[in-house]
Amino acid sequence: MPLLDALGRPLEALRISVTDRCNLRCTYCMPRAAFANHAFLEPERLLTFEEIERLARIFIGLGVRKIRLTGGEPLVRPEIAELVRRLAVLPVELALSTNALLLHGQAAALREAGLRRLNISLDAIDHSVFGKMNGLGVPAANVLAGIDEAQARGFAIKLNMVVQRGVNESQVLPMARHFAAREIPLRFIEFMDVGNSNRWERAQVFSGADVRELLRGEFDLVAQPGPAAATERRFRCTRTGAQFGFVNSVTAPFCRDCNRLRLSADGKLFTCLFAKAGHDLGRLVRGGAPEEQIAAMIRAVWTGREDRYSELRATATGTEPKVEMSYIGG
Ligand code: SAM
Repeated sequence: MPLLDALGRPLEALRISVTDRCNLRCTYCMPRAAFANHAFLEPERLLTFEEIERLARIFIGLGVRKIRLTGGEPLVRPEIAELVRRLAVLPVELALSTNALLLHGQAAALREAGLRRLNISLDAIDHSVFGKMNGLGVPAANVLAGIDEAQARGFAIKLNMVVQRGVNESQVLPMARHFAAREIPLRFIEFMDVGNSNRWERAQVFSGADVRELLRGEFDLVAQPGPAAATERRFRCTRTGAQFGFVNSVTAPFCRDCNRLRLSADGKLFTCLFAKAGHDLGRLVRGGAPEEQIAAMIRAVWTGREDRYSELRATATGTEPKVEMSYIGG
């Protein structure tokens, strides 16, 4: 019997942030100026791999079927392949989100540790557009090299592109062509108002409908069936077979199907990407609490959950700061 929240949604997925640090400074996520003096978590505050594995087993016991490792940038966490090795043997679908910059040195070890799925983020093929968006002038070629390496190692890859009006909509078609040719599904993500530092404005959202308009003619898309709880709506190009996904979190929120919990790198449990506070699971784990006590806390958090921020966004009036995506895990 699945664990249901206050709105009847089952607990099925968990995103685990393994670090709040990142080797990029994307303007829409960790803007360089806002994070220049940011106090990142001290290494000793991060959940250890033993603690994460223990929690993962408890979550799986409560119905979680999917775990995604994220951050920050998960590949900057030392020995991340060791964590993958521990989790890959559990009865769960395991994936990892990355900007691919460090894949070159780590793809082989990750694959060998049992990881099969990668969600890779890239917002532009053009070097100057990407360089500006990532805040550090890092060339897209470095990401593309990581993607090539991952493909050669046999990873199942999904590509994520955040589209921001006036910033990178020029890259929609080049990205679509590039990844269609490599048979890698490309997902277009609407720019979201996560955190407090990306100066989000509704006018900067380049919607999924806007993207489809750009693709029309060159890529004629038909809707594909997908699981109800998927964040993306899937489409296939009738001519080439290329696959595209649309994560329309602003223009078509999917809160009613949200089956996800998020665990920050220091063990705080969040019931929504837009939450203002987390539940301190890390303290219980570190204090040596028995499994039943930890499971009871997760159960209580989930059964009391009534978040549906994206559906309420238009009427949201709160002034309390939200947590940053780099901390809570994207
Ligand atoms: N570093 C990893 C990566 O690049 O995939 C994992 C963490 S990152 C926060 C996860 C995803 O969140 C990335 O695809 C990123 O583009 C996306 N993201 C971050 N801020 C966003 C925002 N304001 N709106 C939409 N997507 C965002």
